[in-house]
Amino acid sequence: MRGAPPRKLAERSSSPNGEARRLALYSAAVDGGGRAVRGEGVLTIKRQLLLSHLAVILLGAGALGAYMYWSVSAQMLDAVSQRLLDNVRLIESSLDAEDIRALGDRADSAAGERVIGRLRRAIGLNTDLASAYVVEPRGDSLRVLATSLGDGHAGGNFLSSEETSLLHRGMERAVVSDIRSAASQRAELSALAPIGTAQHPYVVGVRLDADSLQRSLHLLRLSTLGAILFGVLLALVLSRLLAERQLRRIRSLGDRCRALAAGEPQPTGQPPIGDEFDRVIADFDATAQRLREASAQREAALTALTQANAQLENRVEERTRAIEEATHQLKAEIENRLQVEALLAEAALTDGLTGLLNRRAMLEMLVQALMASRGQGGFSVVLADIDHFKRINDVHGHGIGDQVLAAAASELEQLQGDNRHAARWGGEEFFLLLPGTGLMDACRRAEELRARIERMPTPVRGLRVTVSLGVAEIQAGEALEDCLKRCDQALYRAKDAGRNAVVAARGNAFATIS
Ligand code: GH3
Ligand code: MG
Ligand code: MG
Repeated sequence: MRGAPPRKLAERSSSPNGEARRLALYSAAVDGGGRAVRGEGVLTIKRQLLLSHLAVILLGAGALGAYMYWSVSAQMLDAVSQRLLDNVRLIESSLDAEDIRALGDRADSAAGERVIGRLRRAIGLNTDLASAYVVEPRGDSLRVLATSLGDGHAGGNFLSSEETSLLHRGMERAVVSDIRSAASQRAELSALAPIGTAQHPYVVGVRLDADSLQRSLHLLRLSTLGAILFGVLLALVLSRLLAERQLRRIRSLGDRCRALAAGEPQPTGQPPIGDEFDRVIADFDATAQRLREASAQREAALTALTQANAQLENRVEERTRAIEEATHQLKAEIENRLQVEALLAEAALTDGLTGLLNRRAMLEMLVQALMASRGQGGFSVVLADIDHFKRINDVHGHGIGDQVLAAAASELEQLQGDNRHAARWGGEEFFLLLPGTGLMDACRRAEELRARIERMPTPVRGLRVTVSLGVAEIQAGEALEDCLKRCDQALYRAKDAGRNAVVAARGNAFATIS
């Protein structure tokens, strides 16, 4: 429900395979190692975080390092320029203008020694300084009076072209050459300061060692680069920690997704730290809780539905069984009733004692025979009455009388060959219907019956049973009642003739047959 994929979460968007693949990608992406899925070219979240942090850090650190480098190098160069100026002023103040003038005007060697000595002492105090010198501008020419390097260096080409062009300014105030171009050209840096009177000025100069300047700049670059590298390393560690922290949150959300998809209990997460992700996780947990509750409700409803269904099926089964039983009983009852009805119908048409048709049934047969006789041959009827039957009852009892009746009926039946045309007409009277039989044949059949009964065995030794019979044939157009009446009259004639006799009714005339 399954389903969720989560599961359920999965299905709407695509196939289960697609979802499984996406889940695998997701798992790989938030994996502890941050491994990219092979062959997919996927940039994992961890890498994205690292790269974005790194890009920001590199740009920030680069910009900061460049700014620091240029700012610090500018300050350093300005400080070096200023220090050189201070040095040249210091040297200028330490020199005796009289000694310089004596050196310049008279080439006083003692004064020269003192000037050189002072220049050397000043250079000795500051190892960054390469040399110091005193120049006397004379019109357009320049005369180097003394240098810290000794007399051998004094001369016209001691000064560089830059120093030469800087000299006319150096006669008015302390100046320093352009330290930036000196640094870039790896040249010496010079500072000049005036000494003496305005009418007769001299110029004191100092040179900063170019290697010293380059060393300072090199050191500055190295320290700046070191600071940048340290910053990058620190930032790398921090970004990794930050990325790991974000990944932990994403993994926690992933674990929740997997637990929701698998229907497992929600994993206990890390303590909230109050960022936006906590809101996302809290919203997710609330949604997952609602999904779980809905799923539980659905399960409960499904269980209830299944139970109700089972109950319904049981009930339907019970009802079906009951209906089947009722149908079975009903069928049995109907069959019983049909049997009873058949028996009743049979009983209604049959005489209970003899098993012959009763009078009613015979009357129906007679009606049918009459209808049939209209188209083709007629029929004859025979009415037989046991003689003095009352006396048999009286002498031997009613039971014997019944047995005599049954025996007579049996003879009748045997004679007829079927039980459809023989009936008990009433009391001790029997009736024979002989379809398609003329009067003569009917008389023969009646005579046969009379003789059979006369011969038949009786339940009582010595008891002799006889019958008297009347025979009639239906006449064309005659009513059934009239035919039966004639037959009955014939029977009476047989009784009157002494019983145990057969009398035929020929029209309205009667003839004794036997
Ligand atoms: P007859 O020769 O003139 O016919 O004289 P009968 O005695 O036979 O005639 P009757 O009409 O006087 O008597 C008929 C008797 O038959 C009367 C009656 O009790 C008897 N009977 C009628 N039905 C039954 C029956 O089902 N069983 C017995 N045992 N007797 C019956
Ligand atoms: Mg009778
Ligand atoms: Mg009788």
